[in-house]
Amino acid sequence: MTKTIRNYINDQWQESVGGHLESVPNPATGEEIAKVPISTAEDVNLAVEASKEAYKTWSLVPVPERARLMFRYLHLLNENKQELGDIITLENGKTLKDAHGEVQRGIEVVELATSTPNLMMGDALPRIAGGIDGSIWRYPLGVVAGITPFNFPMMVPLWMFPLAIACGNTFVLKTSERTPVLAERLVELFYEAGFPKGVLNLVHGAKDVVNRILTHPDIEAISFVGSEPVARIVYETGTKHGKRVQALAGAKNHATVLADCQLDKTIEGVIGSAFGSSGERCMACSVVVVTEDIADEFIDELTKRTKVLTVGDGHNDQNFVGPLIRESHKERVLGYIDDGVRSGGKLLVDGREKGDQVGAGYFVGATLFDHVTQEMKIWQDEIFAPVLSIVRVKDLDEAIEVTNASPFANGAVIYTSSGKSAQTFRDRIDAGMVGVNVNVPAPMAFFAFAGNKASFFGDLGTNGKDGVQFYTRKKVVTERWF
Ligand code: NAD
Repeated sequence: MTKTIRNYINDQWQESVGGHLESVPNPATGEEIAKVPISTAEDVNLAVEASKEAYKTWSLVPVPERARLMFRYLHLLNENKQELGDIITLENGKTLKDAHGEVQRGIEVVELATSTPNLMMGDALPRIAGGIDGSIWRYPLGVVAGITPFNFPMMVPLWMFPLAIACGNTFVLKTSERTPVLAERLVELFYEAGFPKGVLNLVHGAKDVVNRILTHPDIEAISFVGSEPVARIVYETGTKHGKRVQALAGAKNHATVLADCQLDKTIEGVIGSAFGSSGERCMACSVVVVTEDIADEFIDELTKRTKVLTVGDGHNDQNFVGPLIRESHKERVLGYIDDGVRSGGKLLVDGREKGDQVGAGYFVGATLFDHVTQEMKIWQDEIFAPVLSIVRVKDLDEAIEVTNASPFANGAVIYTSSGKSAQTFRDRIDAGMVGVNVNVPAPMAFFAFAGNKASFFGDLGTNGKDGVQFYTRKKVVTERWF
């Protein structure tokens, strides 16, 4: 059944002013599940106005009271876990197992936000000079906006508004127009927890909404997560308009496999990381760099296990690979597979046919290329799909060289039983998030999350102490009393 989604501004569900509706399909079937408003600059203006008004009182609410409301929100999210995960599978397509994993990761950020009284605490030093004391105080910024991607409809919005709001800010959220359904429940549960009106506002839409957020004079800071070209625009335009911006971008994550790895666990890990969530994860493994001394054995076994991966609707527990988000994305991915073949990659597992066999929906099966080189587009670009490339190298040095040659630097993983190799890898690799025998090294919420190079534009990542610093402004006070 199709539902018409609305914006939530100043405690009211409302239609967009002058926007139009766009159809949202279930990616597993192509059937319409909702209509989303593609809102206008005017809608953003209204949301900012409401946020600005709410900030006047919300910023004065004592920190422990803000944290107490966050505890209630945490409780409600936990109570509604099942429903939240089911909605993710419906609108995004990822399997129920992946969706419920995402729900948990999102909830962990709300757990972090409940400890804001500790996290926001400043610093003080008495007697910095004769009769003078020094201290640092943290204050909220004002109105903050968040712009999120389709691939984590729950976790990524929760990276942003709970911590920002717990720090005393008010928030305008724009989730992806391709996965707008879950946001409605996140907002409903938020207000059920008892937060005052106007603290969190939701504006659905696309480019026009983002452009207004980037230039609106009353927005102090912007958190963005999405593709690299858009992240670049958001960072450049937002900072040009005087805003604090953190823009987390695309990725091309490499996993290094050495001969002394635990082969069975490594293959299982690579498969989960490369093909789980249909490869539509910013931390997905998309290139395996394997040393020649183990390459044949590793690749034979990886090929065997990739061939038997099932493809289909994520609601069915038997399926490992769900659909891609849209038909247009599937076409783009098929173009990359064609290009990989044309440019000389050896196609060991071809997911094209398996994807087409599923029927309606936007499916591509797990796909594996060997003998990939740095000249090929399948090595260079983020494909964001269950397409894994293998690069053969002679040793660890060359593996690090290949990984560091990518313009992206989000996550990187090494599989080895050598402490020395792991140490060398950690010291010399460019990635912002590093895994040692860990398949998807996404940090837990109390650590910061951000990549390097073209995977991140900004200074402070999301979550952890970085998140609190991003959403607060410091004042350093030097005082003397006569
Ligand atoms: P996207 O860049 O297409 O969209 C992200 C947001 O930007 C959406 O809300 C969208 O409406 C908006 N947007 C899209 N095009 C725009 C434009 N031209 N101008 C202004 N706004 C625009 O990203 P996506 O396809 O939804 O998400 C997948 C991407 O996100 C991948 O590249 C993935 O690696 C990245 N991602 C990164 C992280 C990270 O932590 N680094 C996490 C999740 C996803």
